[in-house]
Amino acid sequence: MKISKLNHTIVIYTKQTNMQRLPRTLSFLIFHFLFLIFIASSCAAQPLSSKKQFTRQDTLRGTITPERAWWDVLRYDLQVTPDYTTKTIRGTNRLTIRVVKPGSKMQIDLQEPLIIDNISLIKTATGNTGSSTAETGKTTLLFERDGNAWFATVPSLPVNSIQSIEVSYHGKPREAIRPPWDGGWIWTKDKKGRPWMSVACQGLGASVWYPCKDHQSDEPDSGASLSITVPDTLMAVANGRLANKQLHSDNSTATYTWQVKNPINNYNIIPYIGKYVTWHEDFAGENGKLDCDYWALDYDLDKAKNQFKQVPLMLKCFEYWFGPYPFYEDGYKLVEAPHLGMEHQSAVAYGNGFQNGYLGRDLSGTGWGNKWDFIIVHESGHEWFANSITTNDIADMWVHEGFTNYSETLFTTCQYGVEAGNAYCVGARQLTQNDTPIIGAYGVNQEGSSDMYYKGGNLLHTIRQIINNDSTFRNILRGLNKTYYHKTVTSKEVEDYISRQSGIDFSKVFDQYLRTTHIPVLEYSIKGNELKFRFTNCLKGFTMPVKIKTGSEEKWVRPTEEWTTISGSANTGTFSVDRNFFITAKKVNGQ
Ligand SMILES: [Zn+2]
Repeated sequence: MKISKLNHTIVIYTKQTNMQRLPRTLSFLIFHFLFLIFIASSCAAQPLSSKKQFTRQDTLRGTITPERAWWDVLRYDLQVTPDYTTKTIRGTNRLTIRVVKPGSKMQIDLQEPLIIDNISLIKTATGNTGSSTAETGKTTLLFERDGNAWFATVPSLPVNSIQSIEVSYHGKPREAIRPPWDGGWIWTKDKKGRPWMSVACQGLGASVWYPCKDHQSDEPDSGASLSITVPDTLMAVANGRLANKQLHSDNSTATYTWQVKNPINNYNIIPYIGKYVTWHEDFAGENGKLDCDYWALDYDLDKAKNQFKQVPLMLKCFEYWFGPYPFYEDGYKLVEAPHLGMEHQSAVAYGNGFQNGYLGRDLSGTGWGNKWDFIIVHESGHEWFANSITTNDIADMWVHEGFTNYSETLFTTCQYGVEAGNAYCVGARQLTQNDTPIIGAYGVNQEGSSDMYYKGGNLLHTIRQIINNDSTFRNILRGLNKTYYHKTVTSKEVEDYISRQSGIDFSKVFDQYLRTTHIPVLEYSIKGNELKFRFTNCLKGFTMPVKIKTGSEEKWVRPTEEWTTISGSANTGTFSVDRNFFITAKKVNGQ
């Protein structure tokens, strides 16, 4: 998730410009002059610069500041008690960290209006070597606030030592109005009027509800636990496995402690609180028995049991293409959520209404997207791309969304064959905006264009055509998941891996589709039995092989920015580009 543009109303901005005040004929001429300049320079199209002005807060959030760089998160142990009536939460997060270099200030992120009450360094019996967790006391640290970042003064800590920092906090977290797109804590009711709570915070960041190092590059290497205290009439579900349940008879509450053993993104650590029921099934996967646990609201049990039959089909397909499910230790879970869906690791949020398609719609417009449940497929696809392989910077988020979008095509292929998959992928191109580049600005917590989904998927589909060998393509997808298993990456690392493993230099192709908004145009002309073609609307030096059809003959050509002429085969006068290549073909005259 989240495919925000699909639900947005299109807003057309109008603005009186100097151009509009010029006499009509003059402005017409100027427009065409500018248009010609644009055409002349279009083959050297440069990435668009983002117009957004970034603030100090964006930089504090989006970069590894010196106050973040000296420590590495090993584990989060988070306890939280929500109060449904007042829409407030109270909690603590114990951060287990490794000191990687000397530091005197520690940046901890917690977004307004939440308030940190205390930050303490926990002393252990063995002198903070990490070999023991027996507490002997706490040292309260001084701290100050700078917007959503908090800076604690820490004593000198030995390099390589393991330390525990406990942060207690409280307040009224930002409420999600339109989750999962805006994000925050969700305080809602189920259809029977009973409390139903959760959180959605992708992009916005986990610091909207708990204190952490809110940067995607630093996942807790040894996992996390989440203890949730709720009225004992409700059930609390979270990531991984239920480690403990404790009833408090004095105040009729219960504390559920869930735990993941694997590294996890901050935004994936999520509570689900409501009147849940559960059932279990085993999946015989590539790495043995995978525990699949399903959680639905009590009155949705039958519908959920029927719809979630798609899970084993999805797992089988994705293990085939991507390799083993990446979190066997933590199990696979699908949890009914009070919003459309999100890839919460080992506790995938499901809110698609137990129907196929995207809320019943086929986003590709081909019919294939209505044959399976978009949220089961898409959000689970993220277990491989987003949760196991995570980008350091959300500017590179296409690695999550482009590959996961392509998982939809691969699932369609698994179930209905290659032509169905191709139709789904190509059909979804209609959703491409080409507004801004797919890759966003680095270091400021800025995602790129929502084209990261369908254009990203079509970029991978085009690359698959060029590789022209599904065994190699599949090995690349599985190889990515093996090489970057549970790691954080840059887009460039993924791009280079694909070029290296395929033996094809895709660097210009990635630059074209990820870093500009221009879709290459294959210009062609046919005169007698001569076919001429070239690429325009592309980066300087852009080239890639393309499969074309002239008459009844299918062939590979390698257009460049210069005209190429082929003789003797084009005399039928018909020409088409294989639809699986994401380019535009344009007939031109007079060449
Ligand atoms: Zn997604």
